[in-house]
Amino acid sequence: VDLAPLHNPPALAAIRATQALLGPGIPQVAVFDTAFHQTLPERSFLYAIPYELYQRHRLRRYGFHGTSHRYLKSHYASLKGIAASRVNIITMHLGNGCSAAAIQEGKSIDTSMGLTPLEGLVMGSRSGDIDASVVKFLASKENLTVEAIDHLLNSSSGLLGVSGITNDMRDLQHDAGEGNHRAEVAIDMFCYRARKYLAAYLAVLEGKAEAVIFAGGIGENSATIRAGICKGMEWAGIKIDEAKNQALNGRDGSIGATDSRIDVMVIPTNEELMIARDTARCVAA
Ligand code: AMP
Repeated sequence: VDLAPLHNPPALAAIRATQALLGPGIPQVAVFDTAFHQTLPERSFLYAIPYELYQRHRLRRYGFHGTSHRYLKSHYASLKGIAASRVNIITMHLGNGCSAAAIQEGKSIDTSMGLTPLEGLVMGSRSGDIDASVVKFLASKENLTVEAIDHLLNSSSGLLGVSGITNDMRDLQHDAGEGNHRAEVAIDMFCYRARKYLAAYLAVLEGKAEAVIFAGGIGENSATIRAGICKGMEWAGIKIDEAKNQALNGRDGSIGATDSRIDVMVIPTNEELMIARDTARCVAA
């Protein structure tokens, strides 16, 4: 509750309510969105702040969307007919919340979300990465409390904050098509920041990435955003086939050009299936 005050209390309330309703004899399984990222090495999960703060408060990067990134890894492995422990890929979960993960030999070794889901990519209403000094600046210039700034960064920023219109990518693309500058710049920032993480994770995986996977409402359905993210990445061996990209929405498949060294794929995520499988495994144990 201390680490995730917005998420864990309602989850606990649901567990208690279910227990009250069904009795203590019915097993309940909690599947944590942070679990898949527990393999992050210290160099990627620590913040470069005094180490004692990590020891005292468990203040570190946890990462989220782990259930989705784990599904994408296991589904990719089954599509390719290889063991999940041999998968080296970069997964991009782009929905209203967005995160990227670098997966090496089936394990998450870096991810863009941190202590909370705020860090990393530009999202629907979250700022993603930001200079921490912005908090002090806003507190003094706008006379805001820390809580109000936290709310601003989580709920009034990202695509919504930059565009001033909406956090919904479909509507933004429509408005950008009509020449709305702020919608255009919000989309441009979204793609640019995602591309920076993509390139960073190619380095993290030491050139061994074999595929980039797009998932989430935006990743699964927007050919324009996928193309915007991969734009100019040919130097790194990432090349989209534009016809395949346009044709593939909401289902599995490759959108990589035949001469792309690294494959580019769309895989609709399925967190519910992972949760069901985990639950079955825990209950059977
Ligand atoms: P999610 O949180 O995974 O449900 O994703 C929600 C986001 O996906 C919203 O920004 C939607 O606008 C976006 N989205 C869903 N369908 C499309 C589409 N066809 N084109 C662009 N964005 C889409």
